[in-house]
Amino acid sequence: MMHERGLGRLAAWAGDVAAFVLPQRCPGCGAAASPARLLCDGCRAAIPRVSFALCARCLARGQARSGCKAHPGHAVWAAWLYDERASRVVHALKYQGRRGLAAGLAFELARVVPPAPRMDLVLAVPLHSARRRERGYNQAGLLAEALAGAIGVPRLEGAVERVRDTRPQARLDPRARRANVAGAFRVKDPDRLEGRNVLLVDDVITTGATFEACLEALGRAGARAAGVALAWAQ
Ligand SMILES: [Zn+2]
Ligand SMILES: [Zn+2]
Repeated sequence: MMHERGLGRLAAWAGDVAAFVLPQRCPGCGAAASPARLLCDGCRAAIPRVSFALCARCLARGQARSGCKAHPGHAVWAAWLYDERASRVVHALKYQGRRGLAAGLAFELARVVPPAPRMDLVLAVPLHSARRRERGYNQAGLLAEALAGAIGVPRLEGAVERVRDTRPQARLDPRARRANVAGAFRVKDPDRLEGRNVLLVDDVITTGATFEACLEALGRAGARAAGVALAWAQ
C-alpha cells in the first residue's frame, strides 16, 4: 500500500517534469504542441462544445438531458463533449500527473459558466481520502483552484466531504450509479454555504449521478449550487 502510494506520488511529480523536458507532440495529430496545453490549437478547437446546461438529476435517471426546468439546483455546464481528444486531456490530468494542464483548462471551464448569478465560492467534487492519497492529488481540486483564480471567486476547500468510498462508476448503469453515490457526500460546514451561490467543479460528467448527489448535499445545506465539468461523456 505504502509502495503504491509512493509510486503514485512519484508519477504525479514526474508527469509535469517529463512534460517540460521531453519534446511535445500533440497526441491528437502529432503536430508540435505546448506542454502546458497537451493538444495543439487545432485539435483543442475541434473538440465539440456543449451549448446548453445539463440536468444532473435527469441524466442520473436516464431521462431528458437538457433544457430541464423541473429540477433547479441541478444545472451542470460542460465545456466539451468527451471525444478522443478530450479523453486524452482528462487522462493526462488525472492519471499521468499532468497537473500543469489545469491552468489552461480553467479557461475552458470559465467560458461556459454564465456571468449571472455571480458565484460566491468555487468547490471541487471531493475524492475519497484513500483514493486521494493513492493519486497524490484530486484532479477536480486542481481544476477548481485554477477556475477560482480565472474568474476571481474564492475557492473553498474541504466544505464537502466524501463520507464513504464508492465503487468506480465506469461499468455501472445509471440506476446503479445513483445507488452507488447516494448519501456519499456530506457538507461539513453548512454555515459557510447557506445562501451562497456555489459553483461545483469536476473533470467529467457521465450519468450525472455524482453531481446529483453532491449538488443535493449542497442544496440541503442552503446553498444555491450549480456544476461545471470539463467534459460530458454521453
Ligand atoms: Zn493536434
Ligand atoms: Zn431535470
